[in-house]
Amino acid sequence: MIARTLPVIDRDNEAYWTWGRDGKLAIHRCGDCDYFVHPPVPFCPRCEGRNVAPRAVSGRGRVVTFTVNHKAWVPGLRVPYILALVAIEEQDDVRLACNIVDCHAGEVTFGMAVEVLFEQAEDLWAPLFRPVQS
Ligand SMILES: [Zn+2]
Repeated sequence: MIARTLPVIDRDNEAYWTWGRDGKLAIHRCGDCDYFVHPPVPFCPRCEGRNVAPRAVSGRGRVVTFTVNHKAWVPGLRVPYILALVAIEEQDDVRLACNIVDCHAGEVTFGMAVEVLFEQAEDLWAPLFRPVQS
């Protein structure tokens, strides 16, 4: 488990941080033009509509970029750990800032296929990604 600073939950981001309880990754989607919106806001930047709500996505994606952190910035933080931007497979410009786990720091690569898993922290479920299990 990674030491986490937990987010403040509001009406917009609640699904993203809690649907992991049921194993689902929630991303806001516009009901008028089907565009995914992240970070979650109740407004579609493509069609300017307000018919936006969380939907469960596949949980698969690819590593767009990453960095390996070797410094323990807070007590209890185990190093090294991998910070990444993951693009979801449904829409390439939806990019989630997250940790890559179940993967040695030297094994993560650009474009690596990954899948979501969740780590519970208090009453939240943080989305993390790991290499696709083949
Ligand atoms: Zn829209």
